[in-house]
Amino acid sequence: MRTSYVIALGSNQRHPRHGRPTDIIARAIARLAHGDPVVLAASTVIKSRPIGPAQRDFANAVVLIETAMMPRALLSQLKAIESEFGRKATGQRWRARIIDLDIILWSGGMWSDAVLTIPHVTFRARGFVVKPANEVAARWRDPISKLSLRQMRVRLDRKRRCL
Ligand code: AMP
Repeated sequence: MRTSYVIALGSNQRHPRHGRPTDIIARAIARLAHGDPVVLAASTVIKSRPIGPAQRDFANAVVLIETAMMPRALLSQLKAIESEFGRKATGQRWRARIIDLDIILWSGGMWSDAVLTIPHVTFRARGFVVKPANEVAARWRDPISKLSLRQMRVRLDRKRRCL
């Protein structure tokens, strides 16, 4: 059975071959689509400020995919792509965070085991996930808060205006 997932991508490092973070995001989406998943929609790539101090800005995007893979198999595939992008051609470890791929939502609902939690635990407060996610799956409802991505986006915007 095929199910769909909302996947978030983030990058804040240059890659010797793939270039700037925005290019890395585009390459990672193409790489993802090269395997089993079908990419149904891709958001625009946005820039976000790093959460920690003294880091470079991030490029972020979200894709809506469809696949026969169950969550743990998909996580393994995402980790494999992260390591492909995180290593030099020599196979040597280069940087931990060239690309980060997270599973945000799954049409199968919730998943929780020792290594994987769906929905992603912290995504609701992250504008750089909710904003692009709203572009690709506005009506998708978070099974925990029961809010749609559109509603989450509106709430985050309101909160930001109050700060
Ligand atoms: P990070 O590199 O900070 O994104 O953390 C990656 C690790 O978080 C993975 O190796 C997973 O074991 C774990 N994890 C838990 N929930 C998720 C999720 N929804 N998507 C991706 N990784 C997750």
